[in-house]
Amino acid sequence: MTRAVSAATRLFAVLGDPVGHSLSPSIQNAAFDQLELDAVYVALRCDASHFPGLMRGLAHAGGGGNITIPHKQLAASLVDGRTPAAQRTGACNTFWYENGEIMGDNTDVAGFAAAAYELLGSELRNARVLLLGAGGAARAVLCALLDAEVDEVIILNRSQDRSASLVYRFGNRYTQVGSVEDPASLSSDRFDLVVNATSLGLSDGDPLPLPLNAGPTFRAALDLVYGPDETPWVRQLRQNGILAADGREMLVRQGAASFRRWWQVDAPVERMREALINRI
Ligand code: NAP
Repeated sequence: MTRAVSAATRLFAVLGDPVGHSLSPSIQNAAFDQLELDAVYVALRCDASHFPGLMRGLAHAGGGGNITIPHKQLAASLVDGRTPAAQRTGACNTFWYENGEIMGDNTDVAGFAAAAYELLGSELRNARVLLLGAGGAARAVLCALLDAEVDEVIILNRSQDRSASLVYRFGNRYTQVGSVEDPASLSSDRFDLVVNATSLGLSDGDPLPLPLNAGPTFRAALDLVYGPDETPWVRQLRQNGILAADGREMLVRQGAASFRRWWQVDAPVERMREALINRI
């Protein structure tokens, strides 16, 4: 980092627990450098009792930041104003100060939409989508899919009660949203896109989220999981001629959307991608 820190420097942070492996400081400081912004971005580990004070303090001091596991839902309940994405997902991953209020957004929604467009080269309108997982990331994905006016979303999750509650939360009259128990029951189905929003692939030895012979067929796949190289699932799919990408692009794009909230200018996305690749 080449910027000098002064009394005027604005402080941004990712707040969560753990945050030691967060890539957001690398991505955001690279963007701050590129645009010569007088700001620094750090990672602050905090538990639920210290989180509210830290978030409020940073915002009132003219900074802002991101929120990660496990405080995204708590953040949504604490901010003064929420974007539609934060309201609908009930989670915030971005906060900032605006007209005397702390505002919250969930930029995973915009990050997913941008990464899906990058992968497919087209809009998702009228697509049939299979969503694997029903946790926090799946909420953001489902929100983006409904905004994109997909035709149908089927949710597959290990815990049926969780996928059922996702359907209950987001089901609407324009898009068919349903959950199923068994991938084999989808063997005659063809999807335009499969999204892995489970944590399968994070640990060595994890089974693939949806092996090729599991049932449904599909044109493209977006894995939210990421690491230094493409994930085993993405590797298998690409070797079999299926359009597939891992979660690195979504990570950059959600960071770029956060950056825009803080600075009201477009983020230097290419510089952020470079910083990510050099860091992991
Ligand atoms: P979460 O709320 O804890 O949800 C985890 C999901 O994974 C649940 O659906 C869970 O199923 C499922 N799961 C966990 N272990 C499993 C197993 N052994 N077999 C089958 N399913 C399993 O986590 P999250 O915040 O949604 O994050 C999910 C993934 O998305 C993580 O890998 C995270 O790193 C990634 N992510 C990436 C980005 C990005 O920018 N690329 C952004 C956000 C999240 P149950 O409901 O049955 O427990």
